[in-house]
Amino acid sequence: KTIPEQFAETAQRHADRDAAVFLGQDRRFTWAELAETVDAFAAGLLALGLEKGDRIGIWSPNRWEWLVTQFATARIGLILVNINPAYRLSELDYALNKVGCRALVTAASFKSSDYLGMLATLAPELATAEPGRLRARKLPSLEIVIRMGEENSPGMLNFGDVLAMGGRDEHERLDAISETLKPDDAINIQFTSGTTGAPKGATLTHDNIVNNGNFVTSAIKLTSEDRLCIPVPFYHCFGMSMGSMGCVTKGAAMIFPGEGFEPGATLKAIEAERCTGVYGVPTMFVAMLDHPDFKTFDLSSLRTGIMAGSPCPIEVMKKVISLMNMREVTIAYGMTETSPVSFQSSTDDPLEKRVSTVGRIQPHVECKVVDAEGRTAAVSEAGELCTRGYSVMKGYWEDAEKTAEAIDPDGWMHTGDLATIDAEGFGNIVGRVKDMVIRGGENVYPREVEEFLYRNPKVREVQVFGVPDKKYGEELAAWIVLKPGETSTEDEIRAFCQGQIAHYKIPRYVRFKESLPMTVTGKAQKFVMRDEMSEELG
Ligand code: ATP
Ligand code: MG
Repeated sequence: KTIPEQFAETAQRHADRDAAVFLGQDRRFTWAELAETVDAFAAGLLALGLEKGDRIGIWSPNRWEWLVTQFATARIGLILVNINPAYRLSELDYALNKVGCRALVTAASFKSSDYLGMLATLAPELATAEPGRLRARKLPSLEIVIRMGEENSPGMLNFGDVLAMGGRDEHERLDAISETLKPDDAINIQFTSGTTGAPKGATLTHDNIVNNGNFVTSAIKLTSEDRLCIPVPFYHCFGMSMGSMGCVTKGAAMIFPGEGFEPGATLKAIEAERCTGVYGVPTMFVAMLDHPDFKTFDLSSLRTGIMAGSPCPIEVMKKVISLMNMREVTIAYGMTETSPVSFQSSTDDPLEKRVSTVGRIQPHVECKVVDAEGRTAAVSEAGELCTRGYSVMKGYWEDAEKTAEAIDPDGWMHTGDLATIDAEGFGNIVGRVKDMVIRGGENVYPREVEEFLYRNPKVREVQVFGVPDKKYGEELAAWIVLKPGETSTEDEIRAFCQGQIAHYKIPRYVRFKESLPMTVTGKAQKFVMRDEMSEELG
């Protein structure tokens, strides 16, 4: 199915039910209202002269305009380019130019980022441009800038105005254009999180996204009776493929607590909207569980959810089940390049497997674990995980070289993650190939040391990584965020490890931090920590 086919089917079947609630903006849509708004925006984009295959960027936190843009662009075959809300000038420049966007939909600002100010710096021509006819020296492909919000800005169109721009002619063309779309057409360029370096743009098709959204939500038994709380960012596959697309495949209501993640706002949204499920990366669940008013929220409506995106500590999973009432929570593993999920537990799996593994391989996807020579590893032996099937991206946008490095001639996507698969088919992610530490000839998986340190009752968050060392090649370092009010010392943490884990796994360096360097998707950036520690150690 194509995205517009799936969307139309659900919107018709559930017309009068809640489709989406944006608490930060106080805006609600039924499926019929959402479909009408999507069509209005799609018709407006046609009136502006955009055509199937054109790239259109979106640079915004979680706002209702994002959801409308996602399904309006798919309706007429425009390729949506997700731009990370944390981007600064040089990255924006790169994303827009690399992909050759003809149009950009932008919010005014987010957190400390002044989007309009940055755009004005990059394209000073906006100040005098006729809206829709920009000619900017540094952004040669960009003609149209559409801004969200009530106000107007020089050289830009307002989102609300574009909604009203399509005439009868444009509205009549919508169905005809949708019918020409094929499931295998590129429809979206999603950027990876930038956990290990510069984000990469994965080109995805309707097939990739619709199927993944469907399988991911089937594993948690989502139906049109469900109300799913989505605090994860839209710009990322967790928000738009597993989140909004997933809900569209089932007709479930989407509840967005706010523009960016806030633990208190998320808990409040679950309570106020009687959510039955919630998505999050592990750090989001940790922040919710640690919220000072956690006990005052009524979470009795919760049943399920998905934790994914980075290693999910067993301790956190257990608390989510017992304290958040999420008895049917699952863990998913995936990556942007595979649309994203390739392993996920099902609500039917035994509890012990659900907290300690990433579940089994998704339907219609193949996975294998290979050693350094490319030979298939034995059962439960660690090696690089490879994925093949409907979910694998077309490639990195116009980057044949990087694509060939990632996808081999037989169609296997090399994930860069180390994994094991047990005899029953349950997978475990041991860590990233790049993060494995070799200390004095011994392989250390930081994940294992992190799991151990999470057992220390003072530890709220911990990241373990390798730093260069003259004697051992690499040494282990740990960055720790303590629970509020706790204090500790390097010696105390090391003493906690003595005799409990092998001596070479005990971090040589321990540092206490207020917070850890994170991507907007809530993932710890070890390369930033590694650089900083290496500098400190000289
Ligand atoms: P970049 O590729 O830009 O460095 P990234 O790999 O974090 O960033 P994403 O595509 O958002 O970008 O994330 C995919 C990665 O997240 C996986 O390759 C894996 O390392 C990690 N990951 C996802 N889910 C899990 C999970 N359940 N357990 C462990 N790791 C996970
Ligand atoms: Mg990656």
